[in-house]
Amino acid sequence: MEVVHTIKEVRAQVKAWRKEGLSVGLVPTMGYLHEGHQSLIKRAVAENDRVVVSVFVNPIQFGPGEDLETYPRDLAADAALCEQTGAALVFNPEPSEMYAEDFTTFVDMNGVTKELCGKTRPTHFRGVCTVVSKLFHIVGPDRAYFGQKDAQQLSVIRRMVRDLNFDLEVVGCPIIREADGLAKSSRNTYLSPEERQAALILSKTIFLGQKLVEEGERDSQKLVAAMKKNIETEPLARIDYVEVVDAASVEKIDKLQGEVLVAMAVYIGKTRLIDNFMVEIA
Ligand code: AMP
Repeated sequence: MEVVHTIKEVRAQVKAWRKEGLSVGLVPTMGYLHEGHQSLIKRAVAENDRVVVSVFVNPIQFGPGEDLETYPRDLAADAALCEQTGAALVFNPEPSEMYAEDFTTFVDMNGVTKELCGKTRPTHFRGVCTVVSKLFHIVGPDRAYFGQKDAQQLSVIRRMVRDLNFDLEVVGCPIIREADGLAKSSRNTYLSPEERQAALILSKTIFLGQKLVEEGERDSQKLVAAMKKNIETEPLARIDYVEVVDAASVEKIDKLQGEVLVAMAVYIGKTRLIDNFMVEIA
């Protein structure tokens, strides 16, 4: 396995693979890889002849005052995990390789980015769509792998691929959790031991929400109220949002019907964590 830093090197490698008739999978990440990322890489390795993992902390998806500077980085550990898992190439560009100084072209979206994280992070999905489009153009994969952990991102990417006719398949992968339920995230490293314990309120509330829906709750307001009430029992938690939306359009819905996404963002101290569940209701 090779780690490369330039677009030219990625293109040359993919071109060589294409000449041999090999299929290519792409797993875009911001690095500091854990078992959540690894599950995407494993799936990509199973479904493609060669797998490219991008490791890039994308500056343009961070807003002012967010954690761009402090975001954890460890390329050596990331490369070891990728190699161990069967990836063929790690693409780790510098920001200057991805964005010229006078870079001025963005991919943006309406509607799907209006609710949930789009509300409190108004330029986030523009940054995500732009970098993912660039990675799609640079690698030209047959399949690209994204986690359900970032459910709105997955809906946004699916919509972008459809709307802009990218010739690839988007594969969504389930959320990987710690043994005690907390969804794995590179940002969990920010938590103090006390906050790590408090962060369990997210997964506990997700499991509560799932139980209420299983028991027949179909009223979005009631479901959200019960989930918020549960989060409020944790003194270190501060709710950003808890919402019920249609999974494809990411529009708010009053009644749970069809493919439903129940998503939340909660601050534990200064750390903003997300979690969600999806449910199909006939
Ligand atoms: P990130 O490095 O946080 O940008 O994540 C890169 C990809 O890994 C995204 O598609 C995420 O949804 C996915 N991912 C991150 N954490 C998890 C997890 N706990 N389970 C499944 N996928 C994940």
